[in-house]
Amino acid sequence: MIDAREPRRFRVRAMAAVFASALLSFRGVSADRAPQRSVETPALRLVLDGDGRRATGLANRRTNTAWLRAPSPLFRVSPPGGTAAKLRAEPLANGQVRLRLTVTNTSDAPRKVGATFPLLEGIGTGKDANDLAYCFPKSGAAVSSQPIDIRRRYSGLFPLQFMDVWHRRDGGVYLMTQDLEAHPKTFWLRKAQRPAVDFGVDHAPRMLTPGEAWALPPAVLGAHEGDWHAALAAYRRWVATWYEPAAPRKRWFGEVFNFRQEFLHPNLGLPHGAFDPKAKALRLAEMVRDDAAAFGGVDFVHVFDWSHTPAHGRVGQYDPWAYLGGVRPFRREVAKLRAAGTPVGAYLEGYLISREADVAKRHGEEWQMLTAEGKPYARFGPGYVYPCPHVPEWREYLAAACERVCRQADVDGVYVDELGFGYQYACHNTAHGHEVPSVQVREEMGLLRAVRRSLPAGKVLYTEETPVDVATQLLDGSFTYAIAGADRRNNPARVNLTRFALPSLKTFEIIRCDRPLGNDLDAVRSIFFNGEGIWLEGPLSIEKWFPPEVRRLIARTHRILREHRDAFRSNDVVPLVPTLYPGLYANRFVARDKVVWTLYNASREAVCGEALDVRHVAGAAYFDAWNGRAVTARIRNDRAVVALMVPPGDVSCLV
Ligand SMILES: [Zn+2]
Repeated sequence: MIDAREPRRFRVRAMAAVFASALLSFRGVSADRAPQRSVETPALRLVLDGDGRRATGLANRRTNTAWLRAPSPLFRVSPPGGTAAKLRAEPLANGQVRLRLTVTNTSDAPRKVGATFPLLEGIGTGKDANDLAYCFPKSGAAVSSQPIDIRRRYSGLFPLQFMDVWHRRDGGVYLMTQDLEAHPKTFWLRKAQRPAVDFGVDHAPRMLTPGEAWALPPAVLGAHEGDWHAALAAYRRWVATWYEPAAPRKRWFGEVFNFRQEFLHPNLGLPHGAFDPKAKALRLAEMVRDDAAAFGGVDFVHVFDWSHTPAHGRVGQYDPWAYLGGVRPFRREVAKLRAAGTPVGAYLEGYLISREADVAKRHGEEWQMLTAEGKPYARFGPGYVYPCPHVPEWREYLAAACERVCRQADVDGVYVDELGFGYQYACHNTAHGHEVPSVQVREEMGLLRAVRRSLPAGKVLYTEETPVDVATQLLDGSFTYAIAGADRRNNPARVNLTRFALPSLKTFEIIRCDRPLGNDLDAVRSIFFNGEGIWLEGPLSIEKWFPPEVRRLIARTHRILREHRDAFRSNDVVPLVPTLYPGLYANRFVARDKVVWTLYNASREAVCGEALDVRHVAGAAYFDAWNGRAVTARIRNDRAVVALMVPPGDVSCLV
């Protein structure tokens, strides 16, 4: 296939370079007489031109295919003047090539410098564009061969650190940053009609003093047979080398599927919540009993507005006990719930303090975040102070409030609202002592670290969105909008890839926030397909929030998720495993003595017949957990072919 953008002599030269380096191994001479250097592993051969700025060849040695038709820059510094850049490439024993880039300010004035690194342009084997696909693991993921031009900041929008390009017959290549310090960066990928992909990582500009050298986070390139799963597996192997939760992950939290949000006060069109201000009486446990009957069980109760009082506002004071008739009645409700097997979490806000709170009066102005225009943030109106997560006193204040509610109310954990997205509040307040603008993902980590340190190890900590990979170590779990934000054009099964990349982190999908779920059966099916928890908000007494059909489906999925909870909280999970039907998707969850597959039929045709071809273990029996009946499998040696019935748009479950 000819790439019309590049002149012909370039293509010839690139191919000559690959050929020359193959012959001459480490040092060679290309057709244009520039010195070449080839870095080689059993998986990959990267040929660099003389000054090491460009790749003139990229070969996947596993499939014996060439992935560059023309030279590609490996990085770009902007603006380029007044700097020197040095790229080092080294082969790794695991088959990857590691790249390190250092950019030095060689001018005699401070310079603001940005860099794209790593960078690969024109990646493909030149064959049919329809067979060239990519995995761009943004929140919700884009895994497709459709043309795309996409950028996502490393944040809740793009929490992982790799991208993959593969061809149906030729295997693929991936790039991965290996950044444990949450440097600000943006992942991007472009595929137009031609059979090639450009992808890279833009690092936010930073100021370099004269002579200052900036060592960018290292990156690796890899090559593989098969599809993007190899890149996900490589990413997971890298994560395993450093990942260490700040507090042990709790098995019971991993087994929460029906996650119920409750209110003590008027909310969502209801004149009252669980608290009766006249009688100073609480009926939280009673409400949860009704919920459990409606949804087939409630595994966790999250109390949204426990801190709200008329005198001190919704959030920030965190001392509502006098208004609630003392802490004892609240503790009694918590004890009742726990006795019934339902742990309880308390809501706190990470970015807001009500102006009525004492601390807002004392520190509001000092802690307030400022926009790029130097104005106070006011996303949710002027009734709040927006404290900056960099401010040490605010970190300590929030950490102390989290610890206090766990101790006083004996709840099982705390939630910090608005954290995890990592992009909505860059702070420009120069009095705070952080860089301007602040690096929000890193400042949130500082805040969460303080909170985690204040909490007993047995308490859970969770946030509104799944933050970047390194930050998830500070959490037990998070809410996420991954399914709500997935685009069916490039993710027909709405898989939440992060849930499979970091499986010990518990996730609860929010489909619609503060609006009725209604009869969105498809959302409930998608959550089940991903083996995740569902965030349940809204009154049972107003039918549009949870019509009967959606309640029945939630109860049905809950029963199966709970029955096979050992599989759904397992670390041995693989998303989107092969099936025998186009449009039929399957995820695999492996427990000690069983394997569970969830299935989703994204096509318009019913699946009826042999649907999955799986590894067979002697003595294994096959069970259709969705319909509650045994299924027969056609066994041949170590394979079992299983027939299933899945209507269009529906899910199933094989155990
Ligand atoms: Zn600030």
